[in-house]
Amino acid sequence: MHEDRHNITANQTEIPSLGPSKIGNPAAAMCGPDGTACRFIGENDRVLVYPYPQDIRGKKTPPSFELAGPRSKIYFDPPKLKAAIVTCGGMCPGINSLVRSIVLQLHYIYGVRNIVGVRFGLQGFIPKYGFQMMDLTPTVVEGIHGRGGSFLGMSRGPQPMEDIVDSLERQNIGLLFMIGGDGTLRAGQAIYEEISKRKIKIGVICIPKTIDNDISFVERSFGFETAVEASTGAIRGAHNEATGAPNGLGLVKLMGRLSGFVAAQATLALADVNFCLIPEVEFDLEGEHGLLTQIEKRLDDRGHGVVLVAEGAGQKLFEGKDLGTDPSGNPVLADIGVYLKMRITEYFKEKQKALTLKYIDPSYLIRSVPASSDDRVFTGFLGHHAVHAGMSGRTGMLVSTWGNHFVHVPITLAVGHRRRVDPQGGLWRAVREATGQPSLINSNGGA
Ligand code: ATP
Ligand code: MG
Repeated sequence: MHEDRHNITANQTEIPSLGPSKIGNPAAAMCGPDGTACRFIGENDRVLVYPYPQDIRGKKTPPSFELAGPRSKIYFDPPKLKAAIVTCGGMCPGINSLVRSIVLQLHYIYGVRNIVGVRFGLQGFIPKYGFQMMDLTPTVVEGIHGRGGSFLGMSRGPQPMEDIVDSLERQNIGLLFMIGGDGTLRAGQAIYEEISKRKIKIGVICIPKTIDNDISFVERSFGFETAVEASTGAIRGAHNEATGAPNGLGLVKLMGRLSGFVAAQATLALADVNFCLIPEVEFDLEGEHGLLTQIEKRLDDRGHGVVLVAEGAGQKLFEGKDLGTDPSGNPVLADIGVYLKMRITEYFKEKQKALTLKYIDPSYLIRSVPASSDDRVFTGFLGHHAVHAGMSGRTGMLVSTWGNHFVHVPITLAVGHRRRVDPQGGLWRAVREATGQPSLINSNGGA
């Protein structure tokens, strides 16, 4: 939570609504034999954004998030509703179990019978691509939660917002669930704004997908736990390779374009890493305290070592190189893993020292593995809460966890700022303690 301590006000946490809810919630049947025992979420059920007393002192209305869960009245009439699900951006473990959870919740708990899946991200809305929407029923999604990858398909690249909303109107879709990362949230906000401009009643509910765990006001993202677990396999392999050869060095590249949470967490999960390099913390390559000398020192001392590097680390080493952008406009990163492999090999050659370097890049393998049980449970909750929120007429929001509670966060808040590892915070301190790595910066003497 600490990374998100920028000042927000109470009215920034308000969730837009399509209109008053007047229909009794069929989810009541799930609680108690006559429905009376069901605890619906009331207007005043909220979670404080800042749990620290010093942050809320003097504030008349401390900001708080609306608690997720079923409301006693809903906005949409289930038999008349058509809902759609779209998955955008890159792969992430848990997407399929999330899609299944949304479908089952809509079908069984709310009685919605008209559910469609949009194929290949936002392209699926645009007629020229020719993708038909897929009818989603409990039978169609049977077993998909055990599979990796994305059942509906995903894509990158912008599509005209007007055309997307035209498609929603044409197909009579009343509720859209969008699963994706920061780009998808921005697209979700743009779709919500276009819908508002047209004064039509279509709800937009986002479920954040970020394997890097870097979206603001999203304490935990699905797939992250699975990614960390899968990463430990690569680290274990690197460590075994390193110990099995004279002067063995295992070099592993993990995901983490702008935030190094996966690398940091994987380092802590398997205390075999000697150097963990993340985008938030700079390092020098050369010089007395630089990485190359420190690796040499480690190999002199112990004969083996492991370096873990997040894909966005050390980008300053490529300053001046413009590699362009991907179809969604994200800058293409220089390959720090391959570069380090080359520089470390050269360094030991110049020093005429033995080195057995094994480079492992498991990124694409990790993104598409099936979700762990824990992530499947988590995507189950996210799906259920997304449906509760959507059926209640909420829109322009995402489902998130905050202080271990499921909450509703306006899209505008989550896209304003990126969550990053705080180099002065407890997580990075734990990494430094677990690896024993020095600062790797010459100007402050490696301290
Ligand atoms: P990942 O974390 O895998 O990058 P993402 O959701 O950020 O996931 P993107 O490919 O960046 O993936 O974005 C998903 C879709 O949203 C793309 O089709 C992209 O063009 C679109 N998009 C991104 N930003 C905007 C925006 N500001 N307005 C409208 N559409 C956008
Ligand atoms: Mg993105």
